[in-house]
Amino acid sequence: MSQIVVEPDSCKGCELCVNACPQQILGMTKKLNSKGYFYVEVAEPMRCIGCRLCCITCPDMAITMNVHGTMYHYFAY
Ligand code: SF4
Ligand code: SF4
Repeated sequence: MSQIVVEPDSCKGCELCVNACPQQILGMTKKLNSKGYFYVEVAEPMRCIGCRLCCITCPDMAITMNVHGTMYHYFAY
């Protein structure tokens, strides 16, 4: 079972991940993070198919995937 985790303070609200998600389950909150940006949340986590497109798309590595307790960061060179 995989779980998408968004780090609110790393998000700049660009919505690239929102548009990339084939399930359309990511959405912007109406709350501001510590940098003053609206940030993304997973609105319907049970519909996530674990494709990881959101993780790969995010230019700020704000999204990680937790698979059986292991956190995967993408492009965190
Ligand atoms: S892993 Fe895929 S389905 Fe799940 S939130 Fe990310 S883009 Fe959407
Ligand atoms: S792609 Fe990254 S920075 Fe842009 S809205 Fe999604 S989580 Fe936030």
